Amino acid sequence: MFLWWGDKLTQFYNDAYRPSLGSNGKHPSALGQPAVECWPEIWPVIKPLIDQVLAGGDAVWQEDQLIPIYRNGQLEDVYWTFGYSAVLNDTGKIEGVLVICHETTEKVNTFNYLQRTKEDLEFAQREARSQNERLKSLFMQAPAGICILSGQEFTFELINPRYQALFPGRDLLGKPLVQALHELQGQHIISVLQEVYSTGIPFEGNELLVPLARTDTGHVEDRYFNFVYQPRLDVYGHVNAILTFVFEVTDIVRVKKELETAEETLKLSLLAAELGTFDMDLEKGTMYWDDRCRTLFGISHKDTVTYEKDFLTGLHIEDRDKIKEIIDNVFIKSVSNGDYDVQYRTIGVEDGIERWVRAKGKAYFDKNDIAVRFIGSVLDITELKYIEKRKNDFIAIVSHELKTPLTALKAYIQTIERFALKSNEEAVKTLVEKSNKQVAKMNDLINGFLNTSRLDEGSIALVKSTFNICDLISSCVENITDAHKSHLILFTECSNNLIEGDYDKLGQVINNFLTNAIKYSLEGSSININSYSNDKMVIVKVTDRGIGIKPENLENLFKRFYRDEAVSKSRVPGFGIGLYLAAEIVQCHGGEIWVESEYGKGSSFYFSIPND
Ligand code: ADP
Repeated sequence: MFLWWGDKLTQFYNDAYRPSLGSNGKHPSALGQPAVECWPEIWPVIKPLIDQVLAGGDAVWQEDQLIPIYRNGQLEDVYWTFGYSAVLNDTGKIEGVLVICHETTEKVNTFNYLQRTKEDLEFAQREARSQNERLKSLFMQAPAGICILSGQEFTFELINPRYQALFPGRDLLGKPLVQALHELQGQHIISVLQEVYSTGIPFEGNELLVPLARTDTGHVEDRYFNFVYQPRLDVYGHVNAILTFVFEVTDIVRVKKELETAEETLKLSLLAAELGTFDMDLEKGTMYWDDRCRTLFGISHKDTVTYEKDFLTGLHIEDRDKIKEIIDNVFIKSVSNGDYDVQYRTIGVEDGIERWVRAKGKAYFDKNDIAVRFIGSVLDITELKYIEKRKNDFIAIVSHELKTPLTALKAYIQTIERFALKSNEEAVKTLVEKSNKQVAKMNDLINGFLNTSRLDEGSIALVKSTFNICDLISSCVENITDAHKSHLILFTECSNNLIEGDYDKLGQVINNFLTNAIKYSLEGSSININSYSNDKMVIVKVTDRGIGIKPENLENLFKRFYRDEAVSKSRVPGFGIGLYLAAEIVQCHGGEIWVESEYGKGSSFYFSIPND
């Protein structure tokens, strides 16, 4: 309690008031002190209240009023609940003001603190709610399937659209897992979930098989998933749900399995076909050979093999340059389109054995047409080559043996022809002419047959001599005219050129041109053969007025076994190798072979040989 008394508002207070004056502040000087001296800092606040009470007005009552006072050596914010009431003197006049006050600083501070805490809490709650919303929308938009399975029943508490898309139309939300996806009942995955729930340890599944139906009416399929089960903890650290992140990888797994099967099949096929494989990384300069490939080259002791050191040097010395040139071309897209199909001999590095190999492959190019990879297979064809050689030897012998009686037959017919001419026996003459034709046909057939035995690539060995091309042409024309009286062969023009070449083989080329001209033109028509030259080349040209060749077939004529479709169906005999061999022979001489033709009108076949 506190009292202001008299004109000067002299102060009196009891002990209970003392703490309000502070420890080193106003007490004890405040006792008996005039109010204005004691409370200068709050005088403007309390003076009007005191005056109001002294003037006989209403008593003043204020609660939790902030009245900062100077105490404890500083100005402090102090809250008060206080009442000012009038005190009368003996004469009943108002002489003083009784202050009953109670400091409420602590109460107000506590209240304010609680208020602030409440606001903080509300803010935190709002934040948590919006965080939750954000998280939920993140979940909803996530590119993975996400669901929250809450409680021990694993009830779908939340599912995002991606998760739902794994089970189109199936009613999941709010349902326990095995009720919503009943086919999971008894599946191992349920015990995995239970384990995560009870231990709190997350689980990661990789390409895990979970048989599931997509729709309610659909059948259960073998489906594969990559997923994470992440336990969710409550405030006490207990698991209360499992967060599931899931990707379906069924297609990837299926493709992988198919690839594995395909690889297995390929391996088996390679094994069954006894094929070796190679794979060259042209950028890194590495070369992979499988075991069979190594065997064919007789290299089994080396870990790594190289193109230059190992591949090129095993090759048979006679095949090395040719194969190197072919492979160089394989790497030039515009030349080969990356295609590779060759036959060559290898000499085993370790065993010294000669083997015949057929290699097929393909080079792959980058966007600048630079070859970056070369892969292919190799096959041991030694046995095949051996059989082929025996067959060719056999054909050569048989053809040769057939030619001997045929030559004798020709001679007898010529004798008979002479008798017939003498005796002027028309019937015999006709028969002799027919016999001559048959003998010529037989001769052509045997020659063609003989040619097949010479098909072996690279087996053309030239026996060169220097001779006049006109002599060769004359001799060929003479022989052909003898055998084929049906056509008129005109040899009118020939520049006397000496050439260096294989007389018999070039004769074979000219014979092929002439017999074709006869075979593919009508009886009685004429055929021209001429030879002319420029500084570099001697050219031989055979022109017929026969069936001609369709433009689209021109490029095929010099291929092995090519015969025009119509020709094959006709009864004109032939094997489709004459021009192929002719081209080989001409190329071996460093010359060229070509054709010009007009379908239905006739053709001109040419070859050129370098001038001696
Ligand atoms: P073949 O034994 O079939 O005559 P060739 O290799 O000599 O074999 O000729 C190949 C094909 O070229 C023939 O089947 C024929 O279709 C065509 N051919 C060759 N020469 C002529 C020609 N002078 N006139 C028309 N077609 C020809």
